[in-house]
Amino acid sequence: MAMITFETKNRMQSGSNTDFPQFKLVKGERARVALIENPVFGWTHTIRAPKVVDGQVQYQMIQRKDGTQFEAPVKEWLGTHRCKGDDGIITGDGRGLDAKNCPMCAFAKANPSKMDAPKRRFAVHVVKYNTKPGTYDLTDAPFSVNIFVWKFTEFLFDKLIGINSIVGSLQNRDLLLGPCTDAQMQKYDINYDMQAFWSGTDQYKELTLSTLKSNRAEDLMAYVARDSELRWIEKDLDTLADAYRALEGRTDEPRLAAAELPSLGNDLNALMDDTKPASKPQAAAPKTEEKVGFDSLLDI
Ligand SMILES: [Zn+2]
Repeated sequence: MAMITFETKNRMQSGSNTDFPQFKLVKGERARVALIENPVFGWTHTIRAPKVVDGQVQYQMIQRKDGTQFEAPVKEWLGTHRCKGDDGIITGDGRGLDAKNCPMCAFAKANPSKMDAPKRRFAVHVVKYNTKPGTYDLTDAPFSVNIFVWKFTEFLFDKLIGINSIVGSLQNRDLLLGPCTDAQMQKYDINYDMQAFWSGTDQYKELTLSTLKSNRAEDLMAYVARDSELRWIEKDLDTLADAYRALEGRTDEPRLAAAELPSLGNDLNALMDDTKPASKPQAAAPKTEEKVGFDSLLDI
């Protein structure tokens, strides 16, 4: 019989260093939070491929905001990986692809309609106040806060820059989030209060800062995206190429000869992020693709 003690060192290692609680709102929730620290960021690729079942590409009806519908391939998420490219090249002029160092950048360069250029993602420790349910008011219990990792995309970062530029520093104002209208997509309004409760009294400040200091994710960058080994990235790229070959009906052709689809572009990906399927996935012939520009939302 194998005996074991209750010591911390005997905890099972999950293999992932993203065990710290992540900040997410449930539907209808409001949250009062404070951003005291600056985020970390990294360049990431999200790989999504047409879903193929038994060699058949799956299609779904997508409803536009005006109520009309169109048919498009179901996209499935394969992975989100940190870009292997050089920061100087990615942030530089032009398309920002480092095809030499990053296989995902190389794929995107050769197949711009099938893969996005790297995008920035962010992660930060956020202070969440304990508030009365459905309100931004502190609970009647003694003041307390919890720390979460808040990860977000360019879209939300841009909003925070906007607020920061108005109020001088995000440390000076609590953020009022919600109510959350879509838990899966983490959709909620972001406003700011005229005060920051955490710095309102010496006692609150001390408690908040000591909680923030002693509750930290081991590796914040791990929340930005996995810094994956090349073999996992290549596996996802193979799956992606296979899926597009199925979509193009050219399953017997060599991988490198696959031609690009005319217009299944990034805009469509963004649109699919932003809309709900109007019916269950079904196999059917593709119809005309759409070019509609919407901001990409969070990848969950
Ligand atoms: Zn890359």
